[in-house]
Amino acid sequence: MAFKLPDLPYAYDALEPHIDARTMEIHHTKHHAGYTSKLNAAIEGTELEKMKVEDILANVSKYSTAVRNNGGGYWNHKLFWEIMSPDGGGQPSERMNIHKAIMRDFGSFDKFKEQFSNAAATRFGSGWAWLCVDKNDKLFITDTPNQDNPLMDLADKKGTPILGLDVWEHAYYLNYQNRRPDYISAFWNVINWDQVTQNYNDANEGASKF
Ligand code: MN
Repeated sequence: MAFKLPDLPYAYDALEPHIDARTMEIHHTKHHAGYTSKLNAAIEGTELEKMKVEDILANVSKYSTAVRNNGGGYWNHKLFWEIMSPDGGGQPSERMNIHKAIMRDFGSFDKFKEQFSNAAATRFGSGWAWLCVDKNDKLFITDTPNQDNPLMDLADKKGTPILGLDVWEHAYYLNYQNRRPDYISAFWNVINWDQVTQNYNDANEGASKF
């Protein structure tokens, strides 16, 4: 079974003015589509065709660079589209578990925002910033190069990503040129906190959260 490029859950222009339609269209139809087709080519005729992508990533050190780069690219962008929304932005409401977890693990929303933004701004070259859940249900922030992610067995800090920000230039260059900090600021206006709290609740399945 080949992996399929997921549809965006909104129109290409839905995140304007924060992320422009042309960037979204190229990002989805060229970049994400490219990772998906190259992942399928890399696993064709192998046992990986029968595996969940999360299981491939958890053992990715055993496989080819093509599987690492394109498996990561396939999974990372799928999460990225889901954790943004035209109805997003602001802060998670106090009744959400993600709000409670951010307060518990970072002290305040502003401290969390500062640490995440800093990880995104200082990731050298291409890569991602992540908010993750560890095995004890605690939140942590990390960043990874290229299309790596914290699900991978070779990641420095392993956990389940519940929010991710793509800081490859292809994610912002048309609208923001070299101004990555402006793109990072704009991202806060489109974060889908309903989905992020759902991702938090789904991590470590069965664990009681609060
Ligand atoms: Mn990308």
